[in-house]
Amino acid sequence: MSKSDGSIPLNKNIKEPVFLDNKPKDGCGIVGVISKESVAYDIRYSLRVLQHRGQESAGIAVFNKGIKCCKGMGLVYEAISKEQMNELEGNVGIGHVRYSTAGSSTFENSQPVVVKTDVGEIALAHNGEIVNADALRKGLQKKGWAFATTTDSEIIIRLLANEISTTGDVIKAIKSLMGKLVGSYSLVVLIEDRLVAVRDSFAFKPLCIGKFKNGYMVSSESVVFDTLGGTFMRDLKPGEIVELMGDSIRSTMTSSPKNHAHCMFEWVYFARPDSVIEGRLVYDVRREIGKTLAKEHPVDADVVIPVPDSGRAHALGYYEGSGIPYGEGLMKNRYIERTFIMPQQEDREMSVVLKLNPIQPVVDGKRVVLADDSIVRGTTMRKIVQLLRNAGAKEVHVRIGSPPIRAPCYFGIDMKTRDQFAATDRTVEQIAELITADTLGYISLEGLIKAIGRPSKDLCLGCLTGEYPIRIPGEKVRFQKQIDVF
Ligand code: SF4
Repeated sequence: MSKSDGSIPLNKNIKEPVFLDNKPKDGCGIVGVISKESVAYDIRYSLRVLQHRGQESAGIAVFNKGIKCCKGMGLVYEAISKEQMNELEGNVGIGHVRYSTAGSSTFENSQPVVVKTDVGEIALAHNGEIVNADALRKGLQKKGWAFATTTDSEIIIRLLANEISTTGDVIKAIKSLMGKLVGSYSLVVLIEDRLVAVRDSFAFKPLCIGKFKNGYMVSSESVVFDTLGGTFMRDLKPGEIVELMGDSIRSTMTSSPKNHAHCMFEWVYFARPDSVIEGRLVYDVRREIGKTLAKEHPVDADVVIPVPDSGRAHALGYYEGSGIPYGEGLMKNRYIERTFIMPQQEDREMSVVLKLNPIQPVVDGKRVVLADDSIVRGTTMRKIVQLLRNAGAKEVHVRIGSPPIRAPCYFGIDMKTRDQFAATDRTVEQIAELITADTLGYISLEGLIKAIGRPSKDLCLGCLTGEYPIRIPGEKVRFQKQIDVF
């Protein structure tokens, strides 16, 4: 498959990668805190812990007589200045870090979104993607509604405000809203001084509750509670609304779906290894994936190394499963921005070299197993394989902790078209040729499901199988077409 001029034979219509790191990007991280003390710094620290879930913008909204919101572009420390933090005085608030998957990357689209209504002010932070957003927006525009942003989060907050106005009851309004939304959504909402967390009926995105000395928190990932000295209580249940009050929480269930659809990528790549999702420590799942890879795709080799940092636990698991010594064969430059745009082709070529450098003695003259979580386009992996060969690796055997990605994600991950995937219209052998690996082994679907430790009926595997947990026009559906909210 490699062309004689050495260039990479990409699929027809494939777009050249623009970002330095062409891993799939998660949509967002969210947090909500209620306390006897001021919460702004707790939210800021939480967002820094969740920074891996979004680096384009960050924002905090707190209630103190009214809702005060500060947000900006960039990482948390860039987006919200110290001076702004001084203005965020209040005992209840929410926060958000964003990577745009629906709506462009602009300040206007950053979150939390805040609206003034006749029932008071509402602020909302959303992780996920609303599949019927366009239909909802068009329907509302026909009724004369105007929208200030292109995000689906604005649709949610405007619908919610309307429902509260109509029903006069926050929980009833959220239930009614959930009946209208199709897609993935974990939400934290401030309705004046009330803090409410919501998880869609399929529970695509993680959301969990924790307790700390002066109150309660809700967060995309449990690692936030560890960092702030709190304790993890539990995940929100699929279809659950939880109101967090100063000294208690109140739960309302809205549906009883027969299956759930937790995104398998949370365990494979997105979430931090030190987070617990649906009862499984992410680090343990990744090690299990590595062990399974060793069983499913054994090879005679001298050293197993990770692509740092994403493949570290997978590589450790491969070592545990195979007995092949573990080594750190690639050093990562941590100071290269994840979303650094590389406008020129030669800059793009440089991007991987800037980010990763081989530790030559670890790989020189060796048969190397290289472990990572996934291959999307294949261009980065090809460059890494070549780096290792240039550093003297005799053989490079690539082992991947997810089955081939072949189908788009409609639920908040930036994998939108089939033509971008290395696995589209290619066999595994052809992908191995594309990335110039001696051999390539992907974990099997069954192996992945077993490593995650959840029944397949409770996982979203849409981008691997092309069968989705909810109905998407033009795609195959796995289970129920929709869930009734009662
Ligand atoms: S399609 Fe893939 S990336 Fe998207 S939610 Fe499902 S498993 Fe996750």
